[in-house]
Order: sequence, then C-alpha cells, then structure tokens
Amino acid sequence: MAYFETKNLTFTYPQSSKKALDNVNLNIKQGEFVLIMGKSGSGKSTLLRLLKKEISPVGDISGDIDVNCEPIGFVGQNPETSFVCENVRGELAFALENQGLSNDEITVKIGETASFFNLNNILDKKIDELSGGEKATVCIASSMIYDTQALLLDEPLGALDLQLRRAMQIELKKLQKKLGITFIYITHDQEEALTMSDTIVVMNQGYIQQIGTPEDIYNEPENAFVADFIGDSNILDGTMIQDKVVEILGVKIPCVDEGFGNNTPVDVVIRPEDIEIVEPEKGFMEGDITSVIFKGVHYEIEIMANGFEWLVHTTLLHNAGEHVG
Ligand code: ADP
Ligand code: MG
Repeated sequence: MAYFETKNLTFTYPQSSKKALDNVNLNIKQGEFVLIMGKSGSGKSTLLRLLKKEISPVGDISGDIDVNCEPIGFVGQNPETSFVCENVRGELAFALENQGLSNDEITVKIGETASFFNLNNILDKKIDELSGGEKATVCIASSMIYDTQALLLDEPLGALDLQLRRAMQIELKKLQKKLGITFIYITHDQEEALTMSDTIVVMNQGYIQQIGTPEDIYNEPENAFVADFIGDSNILDGTMIQDKVVEILGVKIPCVDEGFGNNTPVDVVIRPEDIEIVEPEKGFMEGDITSVIFKGVHYEIEIMANGFEWLVHTTLLHNAGEHVG
C-alpha cells in the first residue's frame, strides 16, 4: 500500500485563473526518499501542503489524495518561524505535548533524540544562540521525535550557505536510510536533487514533467525542459533519419535511440561531458574554440561549430582560438 497517493490531483487557488496543480499522479511508498523539484511557482509547496492534510490550502480541488501514514512531520524553509520555545530542550518537549506521555517518558525521549541528532551540548542553549545548521537540525529533530512515519520537507536547507547545505544533505540522507522513514523533500537546487534521493519528480507549471531515478532524469530526460533543468546540456533541433541515426546541423550521427520512425523532428540533448574534442578532420564537425574556463575538476569549453555554440566539459586543456574536431 502506498503511503501517499494522488490521482489526477488538480488544484486552483481562489481568484487565480491558473491551476497550481494540474493532473498530478504520484505514488510514494514506505521508506522512499522522493524529491520534488521545479522552479519557483511550479506547485511544489501546494502539493506538499495537500499531502499533509491538516494544513490543506483552500481552493478548488479535484482528483484523489490518499494518505496512509501518521504521524507526519513537516519542516519548512525557515526553521526559525516554527520555533515556539526559548531553548532547544523546550522545543523538543513541545513536540511531545498532547501525546499522553509521562514526564519521565518525555525526558527519556528527549535524551534519545538529543543523542541521535548530536544535540546534547546545545540542549540548554537559547534558540537565538544557535547557528543556521543547528536550527535546521533542531527543527528536523523535533518534527521526528514522536515516531514520525513520514517527513515532508519544504526546502529545509534553503537558508544555509553552500558548504553547510552540502554537509546537511549528507546527514539527512544518512538519517533517512538509517530510520527507513519516508521523506518527501522539496528543492529547486539540481545538485541537491541528484545527490539525495531515490526518486526525483520534476514539476513545471503544476504538471509533473518526469518521475525517475536521478540517473534516469539525467541520462534519459523525457523532454528538453527536464534536460535543460537538470545539468548543463546542448539542446538542438534534429531529425531522426532512421533508428540509431540522427541528423544535427546537417551532419548524420549514430546514436542509441530508436522507435521514432523515419525523418522525424526531435529535440537532441547532448551532455557537455559526452563530447570529445579531437583533431579537426577526425570529428563529426569542425569548429573553433571560443572560450576556455577552468572549473576545478574540468574545463568548460565553448566551441563554435556549424553555426552552434557547443558546451564541452573535458579534463584536457585546450586553448581559445584552437581549430578542433
Ligand atoms: P512552488 O512551491 O513550486 O514555488 P507554489 O505551490 O507555492 O509553488 O505555488 C504554485 C502556484 O500557486 C504559483 O503560481 C503561486 O503563485 C500560486 N499560489 C501559491 N500560494 C497561493 C495562495 N495562497 N493564493 C493564491 N495563489 C497561490
Ligand atoms: Mg515553495
């Protein structure tokens, strides 16, 4: 049985002419780490709020939502705004209120949670004295303290700087695996998406564009939107001449794709790391390097060839002005 399932879910806010969610079909199982990504305004938060039924937004709704787990924790973008107590211990205790626990049981739960999340040395600190990462951790700890079966996270690391965000991503992923609870995690950050989840849902204007593993989404994007959204890419108009042969910029090139029929217009996506720079006469096209930028792990190179500015990633050094294949 799915923990969260939506069927043809469509939602429109009052006084809005445009659907915030349009025919969304999702099936999220126990223990899954699902990441929902899309630009600002694509409907991510609306979807999350509908899945956490008790804070449902008001509006015109059709389709089905089926939720088969509880309790469900929620972590928003600014942990600060959800804090209600002065210090960390109080915050954790507050999360356990109304659960019918005795004081002793509450003390034990707080102790366990503090150890699990490494909060022992900040338990009695004031919330105001915490760093951004500590605040995020306390917020996640308190939303999980009462045997949470699923955690919904709406850009929980958005306020942190890059280095801390990366560290927290790794911690969160470990935590999810260790506890085996279901995570539904929203982000607009493509790196976060590729590194964290089992499944990525790409949204655009209320629609789901593609659902797949990070590898599927990166290597086999279903359309140019997804390709452009995740990772860098060269996107061109092409023609599938026949199975396994595509024509781009007047050149016929072998490819792995089939089933498009003959002479069918297609969008062609070529990842920059999949292009090899060779001697001029040995390539499919000849061109001139217009720029070379050192990026640490690789060089980012632009090449003008057949009227198209190609983006190429390579670990081999080339120079601007070089004529290449
Ligand atoms: P995301 O989280 O992907 O940025 P949202 O779910 O917040 O997207 O918003 C989806 C769409 O719904 C946007 O067009 C947004 O302007 C609109 N919207 C969000 N909240 C409200 C609201 N409370 N009232 C009216 N429109 C809203
Ligand atoms: Mg949002």
